Amino acid sequence: MKYFAGIDIGSTAIKISIADENKNLVGHKISASGSMFYQYAHETLDALISEIGIKKEDIIYTVATGYGRKIFKEADENISEITANAIGARASAKGHGEIKTIINIGGQDSKAISLDDEGNVTNFAMNDRCAAGTGKFLDACAMNLEIRVEDLGEKHFASTGTPLSINSTCAVFAESEIIGLLGNSHNVEDIVCGVHYSIAKRIVKLVKRVGVKEGIYFDGGPALNGGLVNAIENELSKKIFIPQYPQITTSYGAAIIGIDSYNYENN
Ligand code: ADP
Repeated sequence: MKYFAGIDIGSTAIKISIADENKNLVGHKISASGSMFYQYAHETLDALISEIGIKKEDIIYTVATGYGRKIFKEADENISEITANAIGARASAKGHGEIKTIINIGGQDSKAISLDDEGNVTNFAMNDRCAAGTGKFLDACAMNLEIRVEDLGEKHFASTGTPLSINSTCAVFAESEIIGLLGNSHNVEDIVCGVHYSIAKRIVKLVKRVGVKEGIYFDGGPALNGGLVNAIENELSKKIFIPQYPQITTSYGAAIIGIDSYNYENN
């Protein structure tokens, strides 16, 4: 069996997916990007290979994507994360209907991508200028509230009041606003809910720039946060599909692109 690796070096996390020649996902691994992208990407790949129980030589084609993709010089190909995200989303949502709109929230940016009936990217909008509406903002909020980012979803659903409004459009001021709310005896659950709705409102504006088309797919690490998913669904008034492994969609897409490139070059 031949194997194909997709390596997504993101601002916050390195995601690696390995697919077999039939485009099945056979394994994946996520690690923090840290300060040494190149070394950590190789360590993550080696660890994944040994977990799956294959040899390095079994991986016959590697595609790198993401913010730090150019650092992974051994890759056979380099691809933009928007293309890889689109291909990965369609494959991850197989059997769940057509995907027409992708919302991706990463560590340092957020994107809305519009696809046509064939899955081609027709338009996209990106926020990479402001931390509000990104994973980093969620990380900072969790830190201020002394909870783990993994627990934000649970806190959101434990909120019983009207979500608090976080009005600052800048992440730094929003953090000060959160500290102010704590000082005014608001509980953590209601603040978390307010944070999610403030991000959701920004995301809805971004999606509206490309057009809201049914078949909405949400990925990136923050899609693991059920509270944020709930807030975006309510703000959009639409159901959103969340794949089984939302953080690895783009690396899986890169692995699939590798299969197509390899087959094209060898047939
Ligand atoms: P990038 O591709 O830019 O590195 P990711 O898509 O990997 O970004 O997303 C990273 C963000 O995902 C983190 O900043 C964090 O806020 C969020 N995140 C990661 N794991 C979880 C989790 N288990 N629950 C909720 N949020 C998470």
